[in-house]
Amino acid sequence: AKREGKNTYRFYSETIKSKTPTSLEMETKLHKALERNEFILHYQPQIDLQSGKIYGIEALIRWNHPHLGFISPAEFIPLAEETGLIVPIGEWVLHTACKQTMKWQEKGFPPLVVSVNLSARQFYQPNLVEMVCEVLKETKLNPAYLELEITESVTMDVGRSIKILSDLKKLGVKISIDDFGTGYSSLAYLKKFPIDKLKIDQSFVRDCLKDASDATIVQTIISMAKNLHLRVIAEGVETQEQLLFLQEQLCHDAQGYFISKPLVFEDLEKMFPKIENT
Ligand code: C2E
Ligand code: CA
Ligand code: CA
Ligand code: CA
Repeated sequence: AKREGKNTYRFYSETIKSKTPTSLEMETKLHKALERNEFILHYQPQIDLQSGKIYGIEALIRWNHPHLGFISPAEFIPLAEETGLIVPIGEWVLHTACKQTMKWQEKGFPPLVVSVNLSARQFYQPNLVEMVCEVLKETKLNPAYLELEITESVTMDVGRSIKILSDLKKLGVKISIDDFGTGYSSLAYLKKFPIDKLKIDQSFVRDCLKDASDATIVQTIISMAKNLHLRVIAEGVETQEQLLFLQEQLCHDAQGYFISKPLVFEDLEKMFPKIENT
């Protein structure tokens, strides 16, 4: 576009470029975001489809920049991964999620399992297991209430990922495979991974009532998970019809806008009956 003529370039640089920060500018802003407290976590409830009760929440990061406003994680997480900033940001997410979940329990609410997303870059940090162990100690959260979400991409390096996952399991935390069905993980290896849960990717759930092949994929993942003695959750559930379909297919758990949007921590309480302090 630069070679199309001076005017075109000037127009481009003055309008579009001045409004959309370059990735270098974004990187600088991302660097400062942690110390300036610009991140917060939202929590999306996960329900058990048999009882209808909330048993867990997924922590989802939000960046509220003072001038740029709300920036979606889909936009800045890839940049954070590229630059390595995902490491300190991810540590902040884990610490905050464990701390708030502990606070929740201390308030006398029924204990919830908190799921935290781990990006590939974080997963392969040499001190990951140590870091998780440290956060659990600092926050005093029972490891049984922490679940780590990884993606299939992480399991490509079979030997290394199995070792890291086993070390994490030894801490007592749970592991789930996020966006399941979108990656390339070898089914033959799946049974060798010390994991607890598959999360059916929302792209399959979205059209499971309209598209026969998506319905088949959902059914197949559910029965495969059960054969491997794994728990299975469907994400991106937006309608009652989808929820009923999943219930019929005996999917264990569900998460999505139909149940609840991701909420600020304070608003979670509104979904639970008030518990008397004694
Ligand atoms: P994800 O882990 O697959 O998270 C699910 C995304 O789907 C979230 O988007 C959630 O708000 C959205 N969602 C939930 N229910 C529904 C629904 O019914 N319909 C639709 N259309 N969407 C639904 P969000 O919060 O924008 O996060 C996007 C992605 O950013 C996440 O995808 C995850 O990969 C990444 N991310 C978010 N927080 C973190 C974090 O703390 N650490 C890391 N490493 N990645 C994160
Ligand atoms: Ca996730
Ligand atoms: Ca997902
Ligand atoms: Ca995703």
